[in-house]
Amino acid sequence: MAPVIALTSAACVMNPAGPDDDGTFNIVTSFYPMQILVMNIAGGIDGVSVECMSEPDIGCIHDHVFSTSDLRMVENADVFVENGLELELFNDQIKSAYPDLVIIEASEDVTDAPSDGDEVNGHVWTSPADYIIQIDTVARALSAADPGHAAEYEANAREYAGRIEELIGRNEDASEILDGMRVLVLDETLPSFCEYFNMDYITLETDHEQSALSAGDLRDVIGSVNDNGIAAIFVTADGENDIADTIAGETGAVIYELNSCMTGEVYADAYIDQMAENFETLRGIAG
Ligand SMILES: [Zn+2]
Repeated sequence: MAPVIALTSAACVMNPAGPDDDGTFNIVTSFYPMQILVMNIAGGIDGVSVECMSEPDIGCIHDHVFSTSDLRMVENADVFVENGLELELFNDQIKSAYPDLVIIEASEDVTDAPSDGDEVNGHVWTSPADYIIQIDTVARALSAADPGHAAEYEANAREYAGRIEELIGRNEDASEILDGMRVLVLDETLPSFCEYFNMDYITLETDHEQSALSAGDLRDVIGSVNDNGIAAIFVTADGENDIADTIAGETGAVIYELNSCMTGEVYADAYIDQMAENFETLRGIAG
C-alpha cells in the first residue's frame, strides 16, 4: 500500500498554497475580464505566471460549456481567479478535480450587484467602483496565497485602482451627461455600468442576445421606450443587435454601442482603453 499513498500525496502537491516545484506561482483566471484584472496586479512579477482558462473571444463565461481541456488548464494552477456571483457555473467540477486549489472570487466583497427579482446580475466589472473592489479583493487574496510577492501585488493593485479613478476623474463631463439619463439596456453586462452612473435604465433579460424576444415582449418594450421618453439604447458589440434596430426604428431612440470589457485584445490596458472609448461614445449623446 505504501506506493499508493506516496502517489496520492504527490498528486496533492500539484496545488499547494504556494509555488510549485518549478518555483513559479501559477495564477489561472477564468475569463477575459479576470485575465486583464490579474495581469495588472501580477503581470511581470518574477516567478509569477498569469494564464487564462478560456480564449478571449468566448464571450460570457456563464454561457461557456466547460470541457476537459479547460480542466487541464487548471491542473498546474496554484490559485484560480474567477468573477464569482454565479458566472462560473463549472465551479463544482473544478473543486472536485482539485480539492486543494485556492479559488479566489473577485466579487466576494461586491454588495451592490444589480438584480432582477431574486436573480443577481454578476457582470459587475463594468461598474468602475465594483471593479476597484475586485482589484482590492484579488490583491489581498493573492497576497495571502503567495506572501512572498505580497508587496508587489499590493503596490500594483494600488497603482491600477488609481488609474481607474483617474480615468473616471478625467471623464466627469460624461458622468454628468449620464446622471439620471433614461436608457434601454439590451446587454446584461451593462446594468452595472448604468447603476454606477446613476442612470435610469430599463433592461431585458436577454442573455447577451435579443433573438429570443417574442413579438409581444417587443411590443411592450417599444411601449415602455415611448412612454418613458427613452432616447438612448445601449448595446454591445458582443450581442446580436437586430432587435435594437427594430426598437430604434419604431421609437426614434438612438443606439449606442458600448464595450463590455468582456472580450477583446489581451493586454494590460484593455479595460481602461475600452472604458475610455465608452466615454467618447457617450459624449456623443450630449451633442
Ligand atoms: Zn454573461
